[in-house]
This record gives sequence, structure tokens and C-alpha cells, in this order.
Amino acid sequence: MTPTIDQARLWQSHLDMAAIGATLDGGSNRPALSPGDAAAHALLLSWCEPLHLHMERDGIGNLFLRRAGREHRPAIAFGSHLDTVPTGGRFDGVFGVLAGLEVIRTLDDAGVVTAAPVELVVWTNEEGSRFPPAMMGSRVHAGELPLDRALMTADDDGETVAEALAETFQIGFLTPGPRDWAAWIEPHIEQGPILEQLGLEHPSGAVGPSGAVGIVTGTVQARYFQLTITGEASHAGPTTMDRRRDSLAAAAEMILAVEQIGLSGEPGGRSSAASISNTPNARGAVPSQTRLHCDVRHEDPARAAAMEAAARIAWTGIAARRGVQLKIDAYASFGPVQFDATLGGLLREVAMARGLLVRDMVAAAGHDSVLIAALCPSAMLFVPSRGGLTHNPGEYTAPEHLAQGAQVLLDAVLRLAN
Ligand SMILES: [Zn+2]
Repeated sequence: MTPTIDQARLWQSHLDMAAIGATLDGGSNRPALSPGDAAAHALLLSWCEPLHLHMERDGIGNLFLRRAGREHRPAIAFGSHLDTVPTGGRFDGVFGVLAGLEVIRTLDDAGVVTAAPVELVVWTNEEGSRFPPAMMGSRVHAGELPLDRALMTADDDGETVAEALAETFQIGFLTPGPRDWAAWIEPHIEQGPILEQLGLEHPSGAVGPSGAVGIVTGTVQARYFQLTITGEASHAGPTTMDRRRDSLAAAAEMILAVEQIGLSGEPGGRSSAASISNTPNARGAVPSQTRLHCDVRHEDPARAAAMEAAARIAWTGIAARRGVQLKIDAYASFGPVQFDATLGGLLREVAMARGLLVRDMVAAAGHDSVLIAALCPSAMLFVPSRGGLTHNPGEYTAPEHLAQGAQVLLDAVLRLAN
């Protein structure tokens, strides 16, 4: 008999974690390598103390917590991230870490020692909202981003990752080394409405009691750009309209252009202009330099490439017509990634054995698993998100759905580690 996840304890861990960086509207604000992130790691480590895990932290702050097995063989690894966007919810990333913790706690309570070691992982700076790019910790781990380049990355206040790391984690860094993993599984909230809908369509009525999980077969392709638009600073009073080279007005057109490209890429296409900074951003001054961060996404890489090409043509045309300079820096991308079909099959099997509805899905958001999939057989497991709401204080997954996801993880880990 497989041991059973403690739903109440798993829920309480989420509430306790959400108390760190809690916002007035019920969300979480724990930017990567902030005091909140440090407190979140400290809380997790305090929970891990009685579990006698072997802890290692690499040069970018990724945390590895290993529970020994009976045999010397590659570990079964799982986890996610604890950082949030400034308007984050209580479950994105956090669920993957706390489900992993609950798996280890449950094994301990049941006195189960697996043949293979099992390892809980917390990736640094998955969100990338303070320090770009997103999935920084797993990128460094996978060798896609050199450690020294990541360490030099500065936030908007000029503080570097290296400085923030030194303030956040009061321990010496071990040399990063490749981990010996036989498999990697990341449980995550769906961040979309499909599983909730699936549950509602179920004859039982609500998503529960049977519940639904998603087996993530792969991801879309996403391409990220920084646009630097340079015009000319001038006085908003005397400068006649025909003499202006207004970088913010040009950016406004570029934002609408990229939105249009996402709309024409439907179904399946997505595009955003998600952040903007403007100089001098002062009353009475025509803006001289504006920075935008944009992205385009599509499951089909050819369509994603076509969306990028269309965006470049549109942006360049707007810049030329308005007499502003434009620099486009394609600073990051990911996917499309195919996750391991055998591992996905195992998750499907154990979920169905628990009476859960199962749906294969493609992830449209970036996740650390995108990077880890290049290193070892990898899979992701989704649990329902109420209303599909995410990166939002209203993000919510019911306690029983969290427990169902953690149970599927535990069942799969036991199969893989024995
Ligand atoms: Zn996440």
C-alpha cells in the first residue's frame, strides 16, 4: 500500500509559505533573491531539518535537498520555485516545492526508504521579473546561461544577482556540478481553465471528488525581445508636433502592433508587451528613450518564427515613420520542448489508478522543466487553477486538488525509486 499524502499538512504549508511576502489582496510578492525569497528558503529549510536531508546549494542559489536511498544509483528529482512576480499568487511554483516536501514527509512518516535517493529542488529566479531572463537558475544549471553572466545581471536599481545572492543566502556556495538524476518531475498549477472545465463536465458535477490532473506533453516555443526606442528629449511646450521624436508614442504603437500579431496568430498564438520603462518620464518633457519587453509564442515553431518576423517588420516600420532609433535584442527563448513520453505515461497510469480524470496538455508558460528536459527524462504534472487565474493574487487551487497532485507525484516517485 502506498502511503497517503496529508492534505491538511500540505494545505497548511501553503498558508505558512504565503504569509511570507503576503499582499493585502491575498497574493504573494516574493521577488527572486529578495528578503522575502530568503525567508521562504529559511522556512523550507526549517521544515526539512527533522527530515535529515543532505543539502547543497550551487553558485546561482539553486537548492538541492536529498533523501538517501538504500542503493547507490541516480536520484528521482522533483520540485519547482519559490519566487513570485510582484502581483503573484500563493501557488505558482510554490506548489511544486511543497508537494515535493510533502512527498518526503510522507515517506518519513511511513518509514519508507526507497532504493534510489529522492531529491527536492528549488530553482532560483524562475520568474525573471526582477532579474531577466526567466528560469535563470535552471538555465545556469543546464549550461544554457554562463554563471558569470547570470551573476552580473542587474535589477532596475542596479543591484546585481551576485550582490543579491550574497545578501540572500548566508552560506558558502558549493561548486555547481551536474546532478545524477534518473528522472525529473515538476508538479505545477495549470495556470489555465482546462482542468477545472474538465472536472465540471464530469458526471460527478464538480472537479472533485474525482478531480483532474494534466500530463504536460511539451511546451510552446516562446521568443523574448527587449526593444530600446531612442528619440530626442525636448520641452513639451515649445516643441511643435512635427519636430518631435517621441520614444513613448512610438512604443505605444509598437505595443499595439505586437498585440495584433498575437491576435492574428490565434488559435495558439500569444503575444505580449509586458513591461515598459521610460526616460526621462518627467512631466513637461517629450520622452527620449523607452524600453519594452515583448514576447511571441506558438506551439508550432514555424508559426512562432513567422510571428517574430511580422513583429520585426511592424516595429521597424513604426520606428522609421516616426524618426526614432530602434534596437531589438532577442535576449531569450525556449521550446518547443517534448517531455519524456515514458515518464508522462507513468504519471498518467498512477493518476488513473487514483480515479483522477487525466488530460494531456501543452504548457504555454515557461517552466524550469524546459531546461531540465535536456538533461534527463522530465515531465510536468498540472493541477487545476480556479478560473485559470495566475500571476494574480486571486490564484487558487483547492486543498484536495493540491493533495491529489502530490499523491500522483508520490505514487510515481515510489514506482521510479524502487
Ligand atoms: Zn511557476
